[in-house]
Amino acid sequence: METTSVAPMELSARIVTLELAETFVISRGATETEDVAQVELRHGAVSGFGEAAPVDYHGETAESALAYLEEHASVLGDDPFALDEIGARLPPREWAARAAIDAALHDLQGKLVELPVWRLLGLRRAGPPTSWTIWLGDPDDMARRAAKVKDFSRLKLKLGGRDGLDVERVRAVRGVTEVPLQVDVNEYWSFDEARDSLPRLAELGVEYCEQPLPEGDPDGPRLKAASPIPIYVDEDCHHLGDVARCAERAHGINIKLAKSGGIREATRMAYAARALGLGVMLGCMIESGLGISAAAQIASLCDHVDLDGNLLLAEDPWPGVEFVEGVQLPSQEPGLGVRTGARHRDGHVTTASRDAHVRPG
Ligand code: MG
Repeated sequence: METTSVAPMELSARIVTLELAETFVISRGATETEDVAQVELRHGAVSGFGEAAPVDYHGETAESALAYLEEHASVLGDDPFALDEIGARLPPREWAARAAIDAALHDLQGKLVELPVWRLLGLRRAGPPTSWTIWLGDPDDMARRAAKVKDFSRLKLKLGGRDGLDVERVRAVRGVTEVPLQVDVNEYWSFDEARDSLPRLAELGVEYCEQPLPEGDPDGPRLKAASPIPIYVDEDCHHLGDVARCAERAHGINIKLAKSGGIREATRMAYAARALGLGVMLGCMIESGLGISAAAQIASLCDHVDLDGNLLLAEDPWPGVEFVEGVQLPSQEPGLGVRTGARHRDGHVTTASRDAHVRPG
């Protein structure tokens, strides 16, 4: 087993545009494509890969992630197992970029010892089934889209229309499907709207409500006390240091690798949440299979999983995560277990080999 090498790890990174199968609409806006930064870390003859899906509401972009990756390529050292030392050398910002480095290091580790990352971490392979996201739209439109869903055993409805119709949206979807429903308000309710809506969502059998209030809203603890269904926070919870504060305002936290900075921090957050009696959800951004594969490695630590990012794409350029009976299963191959080389609709082939050091055009 080769754990160290004389030469420092070499990093190359590029921006990739992911194309969505259909337009994605949430309370903050709509999008048809998403740019991510992808990184390759070379350690001798072995390469590890990772993806940075920037958290736009924190001012991160694919360009800022790429700049961070290139700026800090020289501090990675020569030991992909030295996660704490490498983490300490990286400035605490650009969390999606840090998550890409963390994923590439885990991918390298797994490939070097010939184990999938979930095995390396001592975890079970399978987590709970993933939810499928129903974008924000008119109640009828959301119901129409929900009625077409076949392969998913739970739906996550994006709410926050600010038109008084959010409960109607859920009622319309409830009318066409029996599967468990979850809702994500993305910070768009006031305390009064939340206090009014949550009991009605409870009657419709909604399992939990994600981020009803704006990040840091002083009414958070009061809403937690009043809510008949669990509240999960997403925009309120990024790193380990946020988890204890979230216990005052929520019954659970939504962990995303792009917010936390990677698998290592996300794992710490999951255990901290358990110590505080909180539920744990694992979410994602719009990501290819490269990003989703990193999250899928730790899905078994979670109560709820929302890892549909790669399934929302017109085509996943990094296959390897298996979608089996609603569960996003990480591969049994070493490392993250994904491979590139998918053929795009325009005929070009994605490569991430040594000569793919392509700067964004
Ligand atoms: Mg959310």
